[in-house]
Amino acid sequence: MTQPTPPPKRTAKEKIGTPRPPMREQPPLERARNFLEVPFGYGPEQAMVEAERCLACGKPHCMEGCPVGNDIPTFLRQIAEGNFAGAARTMKETNLLPAICGRVCPQETQCEALCVIGKRGEPIAIGRLERFIGDWERESGAVEVPECAAPTGRKVAIIGSGPAGLTCAADVARAGHRVVVYEALQKPGGVLRYGIPEFRLPKAIIDAELTLLERMGVEIRCNEVIGMTDTIDELLVEEGYDAVFVATGAGLPWFLGIPGENALGVYSANEFLTRTNLMGAWRFPEYDTPVQRLNVVATIGGGNVAMDAARTALRLGAERSLIVYRRGLDELPARAEEVHHAQEEGVEFHLLTNPVEILSDARTGWVQALRCQRMELGEPDASGRRRPSPVPDSEFDLALGTVIIAIGNAPNPLIPRTTPDLDVSRKGQIVVDQESMKSSKRGVFAGGDIVRGAATVILAMGDGRRAAASINEYLESGKW
Ligand SMILES: Cc1cc2nc3c(=O)[nH]c(=O)nc-3n(C[C@H](O)[C@H](O)[C@H](O)COP(=O)(O)OP(=O)(O)OC[C@H]3O[C@@H](n4cnc5c(N)ncnc54)[C@H](O)[C@@H]3O)c2cc1C
Ligand code: SF4
Repeated sequence: MTQPTPPPKRTAKEKIGTPRPPMREQPPLERARNFLEVPFGYGPEQAMVEAERCLACGKPHCMEGCPVGNDIPTFLRQIAEGNFAGAARTMKETNLLPAICGRVCPQETQCEALCVIGKRGEPIAIGRLERFIGDWERESGAVEVPECAAPTGRKVAIIGSGPAGLTCAADVARAGHRVVVYEALQKPGGVLRYGIPEFRLPKAIIDAELTLLERMGVEIRCNEVIGMTDTIDELLVEEGYDAVFVATGAGLPWFLGIPGENALGVYSANEFLTRTNLMGAWRFPEYDTPVQRLNVVATIGGGNVAMDAARTALRLGAERSLIVYRRGLDELPARAEEVHHAQEEGVEFHLLTNPVEILSDARTGWVQALRCQRMELGEPDASGRRRPSPVPDSEFDLALGTVIIAIGNAPNPLIPRTTPDLDVSRKGQIVVDQESMKSSKRGVFAGGDIVRGAATVILAMGDGRRAAASINEYLESGKW
């Protein structure tokens, strides 16, 4: 591979005044009917030019916004110099999943939000560069397996193979401990695999990053539901594990509690996306789990999950895909980029609209319409967003054939239910010490969505790293 020539050096003023290179994307109406990834990513020249804009601040504020502590200025300098292998090595010191984080992390509210250049110009495109370096390493075949210390004879069980579990597994394996990851589903990756669709995060990228973990000696056992196949006590006492990290996520969907919710054609977003992503409904009949034929689909909710479901519905052939959300555009919790992509692709936004009943055909039981009421916004509530309240006598019906409910998830309850001496909050989250990720039970640590409720990939990874440091320390000192 020929080494690209580093771009000419620019003054600080020039760097601040230069916008980021745009990232090419599939045209909206074309991509709305296929599952191929939407943006194409930077090439080497674009990446070097963008990385060279970094001011290499003495006090890099960008790093304060990164929950896993990536050494951002160093990896940017290495990219600018064309030292991509060095940049990949720097990145993997703290983050084993750069190609994933570069695609799904909300950088605009984290590292990029704190980049000093953002005060007067466009902040450095840290996320796009992270993605570039992860992709470059994978595609060039130059993947370096991080070194692991000599085996210690200690054994750690990790329950759940989402970002929290995988990150913890990497850091514990590096310390020389044997790691076994238990996963309830037939394939590892957690939400990365079963929730986030192919057009945002291709499965081949998850597979490649998992292969790296396996090359570090981590064993992943699928189809093992801890709490049913084994309990945590059995893992610790009978199976001889020295520590357990619980990273079982928040996969229990909330429902609206409105009449008609059990009609045929009503899905939770979890079921709809799992059928599509994990069970291959998007490749039916090659895979044999279909979703019902879609005509008009309403997705209820305004977060990333709702955007993923609404955009997936279009790609599965829906004539119209609607977002129904009770607040306004400014209150949508989804990433701005996801909302923008959904709008471009033709998803219709029915805002200030609150569903009150699902109407179905009395003979067949299939959904026919969504009864809604108009809403108006009042003063901000505890979440800081303006509180919606119903407009009197404003009910109307939206005719449709499928309803997807994407209003949030609660923590998976099985582990808390089968581990009696584990402290659990009223909301079902495992209670831990925020620094050490230690639970109330000796030898048991927890992190990610099972502790936070539905949050983000990078926060789950940050928990996984902190838990790993604490597990390694516990295994060395024996102190709880
Ligand atoms: C559709 C969707 C889109 C999202 N988009 C984004 C995004 O763009 N950016 C972002 O930052 N975040 C996003 N999120 C949130 C993010 O994916 C989660 O916060 C993150 O995956 C949580 O990681 P985790 O490791 O805690 O749990 P998960 O990823 O939920 O993984 C938990 C794993 O544990 C397994 N498990 C559960 N119980 C057991 C058991 N008893 N035994 C064995 N295994 C078990 C589950 O099968 C699962 O594989 C999205 C979430 C969804 C649902
Ligand atoms: S804050 Fe911005 S300019 Fe400064 S080191 Fe971080 S990325 Fe570079």
